[in-house]
Amino acid sequence: MPVENCDVLIVGAGPAGLTAAVYLARYRRKVLVVHDGASRAARIPLTHNVPGFPGGIAGPDLLRQMREQAELYGAVLRQDEIQTLAHDEEEGFAAQGAHSRYRAASVILATGVRLNQIDLPEADHEDAICSACLRYCPICDGYEATGKRVAVLGSSTHGAREALFLRHYSKHLTLLTREGCELSDAQRRELATAGVEVLDAPVAAFRPGPQAMEVELSDGRRLTFDVLYPALGASPRSELAAQLGLTLSEGGCIPTDACQRLPIPGLFAAGDVVEALDQISVAIGHGAIAATQAHNFLREREGRVLQAE
Ligand SMILES: Cc1cc2nc3c(=O)[nH]c(=O)nc-3n(C[C@H](O)[C@H](O)[C@H](O)COP(=O)(O)OP(=O)(O)OC[C@H]3O[C@@H](n4cnc5c(N)ncnc54)[C@H](O)[C@@H]3O)c2cc1C
Repeated sequence: MPVENCDVLIVGAGPAGLTAAVYLARYRRKVLVVHDGASRAARIPLTHNVPGFPGGIAGPDLLRQMREQAELYGAVLRQDEIQTLAHDEEEGFAAQGAHSRYRAASVILATGVRLNQIDLPEADHEDAICSACLRYCPICDGYEATGKRVAVLGSSTHGAREALFLRHYSKHLTLLTREGCELSDAQRRELATAGVEVLDAPVAAFRPGPQAMEVELSDGRRLTFDVLYPALGASPRSELAAQLGLTLSEGGCIPTDACQRLPIPGLFAAGDVVEALDQISVAIGHGAIAATQAHNFLREREGRVLQAE
């Protein structure tokens, strides 16, 4: 298996990893971006909250432009899945991919999260996202749900909070459940006061259409919503950090300090995989900070920082 050497290995080619790649390439570092082709941003039909794009931009277009910008300055991108990551104080980092091995003095983990999705065949699921009857992120696109018939799927407090968040945009709000409602009487009263209808019969089937989402309940009722927001959370892709012995947050995210640093020198994390707001703008900010920290870490090793006070 070939071994590729670089100054900084970035795992992930979403907004966080690609921003870090642009910065590091412009810091004239040998930078390798390894990704397994699963950026969440690639699934965005049109985002309206990324600054600088008043007409919105499709996720795949944004990623293509970011890749072009990184490559323009010399960053190298490889499609591969990193399966293991190890660290040795003398040798630095060694990563094992499915196709290659990688060695680096510094690593940035920008591995994102996996969505916990509703049960639909993959193609139907992605069509429903594209037709906008299925959305996963009220912070991203609650604005587009203004005045629409909105359902939130999630019987826990997470679902209730999301329904109340969306109530700001529409008075037609229904909270649905998959397995049975876990809400207390007090929480139910709060939702009722805010005008959120709670339906206790679990959802039996989802039928996405070009304009709306039909939902069949276990009691046989069929309801139609303009948009369904599953509030099922996400699973951080933090396995590589766990392999290095790092402690993860309760939800499985990688906790960094304010400069994206981790307890192992030369190791950084950025984007959705870090405990923060899961947004493109935040991922971009993290990527810039992590890249600058990685560059400074290397400069220090090279003796190019002022040590004397
Ligand atoms: C339908 C949808 C709509 C959204 N709309 C918006 C919006 O309007 N505005 C907004 O700000 N955000 C939106 N988001 C969220 C946004 O996509 C994420 O916040 C953003 O993509 C996070 O960037 P990231 O670089 O941290 O992670 P990602 O973009 O998810 O990238 C993670 C990268 O890590 C790679 N990876 C992970 N593990 C490995 C491994 N072991 N080996 C190799 N590669 C690996 C993946 O292949 C991928 O390249 C939306 C998300 C979805 C799903």
